[in-house]
Amino acid sequence: MNPSSFRAAIPELDWGEDGSLTSRQFNDLYSSSDDPLAESTFVFIQGNHLQERWRKNNKTENFLIAELGFGTGLNFLNTWLHWKKREFKSTQESKLHYIGIERFPLRIAEMRQIHKRWTDLAALSQCFLEIYDGESSGWHRFEIAEDVILDLYLGDAKEELNKRSADDQKIDAWYLDGFSPDRNPELWDSSLFQLIALHSHAKSTIATYSSAGVVRRGLEKAGFSVYRQEGFGRKRHMLVANGMQSSSPEDQIHKQAAWFRLGHSESNPPYPEKHAVVIGAGLAGSHAAFALSKRNWRVTVLEKAKNIAAGASGIPQLALRCRLFNEASPEAQFYLQAYLYALRFYANQASICKESFFANGLAQLASAMNKKKALNIEAIRSIYSNNIVDTDSEVEFSEFPASYLAETPIWFPQGGWADPLTLCKSLLESSLITVKQGIDCSSLNQTADGWEVMDEDDLLIDEAPVVILATGSELSKISQAHALPLKLSVGQSTQIEAMSLPFVAEAKAVVSGSRSLFPAHRDLHTISACYRQLELGQVPLAEDDELNIASLKAMFPELDEAVINPRRNHVAVRANTPDKVPLVGLIPEITAMQQQYKELQRNAKQSFREPGKYYKGLYLSAGHGSSGLATTPLAGEYLASLVCKESLPFDHRIMDLLNPSRFLIRELKRQQKV
Ligand code: SAM
Repeated sequence: MNPSSFRAAIPELDWGEDGSLTSRQFNDLYSSSDDPLAESTFVFIQGNHLQERWRKNNKTENFLIAELGFGTGLNFLNTWLHWKKREFKSTQESKLHYIGIERFPLRIAEMRQIHKRWTDLAALSQCFLEIYDGESSGWHRFEIAEDVILDLYLGDAKEELNKRSADDQKIDAWYLDGFSPDRNPELWDSSLFQLIALHSHAKSTIATYSSAGVVRRGLEKAGFSVYRQEGFGRKRHMLVANGMQSSSPEDQIHKQAAWFRLGHSESNPPYPEKHAVVIGAGLAGSHAAFALSKRNWRVTVLEKAKNIAAGASGIPQLALRCRLFNEASPEAQFYLQAYLYALRFYANQASICKESFFANGLAQLASAMNKKKALNIEAIRSIYSNNIVDTDSEVEFSEFPASYLAETPIWFPQGGWADPLTLCKSLLESSLITVKQGIDCSSLNQTADGWEVMDEDDLLIDEAPVVILATGSELSKISQAHALPLKLSVGQSTQIEAMSLPFVAEAKAVVSGSRSLFPAHRDLHTISACYRQLELGQVPLAEDDELNIASLKAMFPELDEAVINPRRNHVAVRANTPDKVPLVGLIPEITAMQQQYKELQRNAKQSFREPGKYYKGLYLSAGHGSSGLATTPLAGEYLASLVCKESLPFDHRIMDLLNPSRFLIRELKRQQKV
């Protein structure tokens, strides 16, 4: 992976007259057999004994496969087909979870072309091609079917496996399909086999078409028992391996700082009951509840207000775009992954609930977001692919008359906006979710089985092994979260009549400058937002409506402010964090962790073995600021994956970035007591 860009590396391909595909970079065929589908079944599915393992109902709840060299997706589609056809379906909860790792992802047109060859896979291929995107490096989660998750790690196999948390779910079956070792020696070295061992358990199996000595010796050295078997077709031999003996190398395990390790590994017992209480029915809470209900958890959502999406999520229109950065940092990676996931998520949700999301693009002016550090257009161009952001000044914004704008915008072709109330309602519709409004949760008591949720009069509201705090600006009310830093401000948005802006009356795209102007919805445009300090109160102010309208003038010089009538406004407290990255994960036991790592005050470089102390079963998703529409879907999915001990959608750098304990560790390192 190119560390300075998120543009995925491009495969150099040669198409044979028979439709076969060769990589010019590796001078090797994607499939050397006349019958690639039969070869895939023979080598990988039979080589890993998948049908027997699935039939035995042995560990079928969430069966995790990792493939090195995702290539055309043939092995994935074939595995999915076998999964669908498996004889024994243990429970409705069984899930196939497939990690495909690929350094040179095929682009969609190439995928389409090669998939035409596999008529047996046509129906599954169609579902895959509808959502596949190989443009951006990093980890991407595709919920391709109710019982199939595809995680694509687009980058170098060793680099991506190295970023995966050592506590993450272990792989049940490996497919090693990264071209032959003599053509690709860089991949097949001892560090790869160590990483495979690190992410394996004692019952993991491995299959590869290769029978090379370097692979056999490497796997044996990493602790596996390796067997040579008859190969497929003209190939004499292939290798399978299992029975990993050695424990994982210590230095690999501890590459994630001890204080950030969340104890979510499979060795810790699961929760006694699939029941969670989510406090807060805004975007963060609704997405967390939705992600758990998808996993057949019963969820009670408690909301203080009389209706859902009442706080900062209650603005009539919210913008969806990717928060951009001038460097391809882990922070930028988080926002990119979250944005791409949100696009797929909302497109799917809009197919169920039409009025929830509108993907007509978003034009961003220099005055929007990233106010402290101006965006460097050259850097943006080299970091992000064109389907994320288009910086070409010649581009024709079909959804917006750009000539009316004071400056050339950056264009998010897939961006758009959502109606958060409609969205939250649709997310909370599951029969497994109960929403209770007008319930004020004041405290939490930890018990042997989980948590008691208490009201203001200290009466029990509910109890559950898992509680997720998604209370936005009210987070500090709950004592366990009291010390977590949030920065609060009051935001006021204004709604104006649709026809008062003739030149934007037909525009469908959002325009974000110092304010965001949304396309008309139910005859009103939203202008968002004017911010003030919390102390200045939460009563709507006429002068803030005026400021919102005046700010539009800077964005649209031809605007005649006199014709604009404010019709409504919306005021809410917004929660951000000191480093502007949300808080997502388990809640740290702050005093215990201060004690645990107090040596950091003397020596910031001191390393530790003992994992951090976190409240068991107490999670949060908060501080999403103005990117909440983009970040809350993947945050909810991440929390649900943590709760269920499934393979996570984030590498450990992003987990650490979101971890709420980061502030206390930073403070200790600065040699100050918190
Ligand atoms: N399994 C694939 C399928 O079903 O189409 C075919 C894989 S093809 C034989 C090998 C793949 O490994 C190529 O797509 C290549 O780009 C990928 N690859 C090679 N070196 C890699 C590396 N270091 N990290 C990740 N992928 C790599």
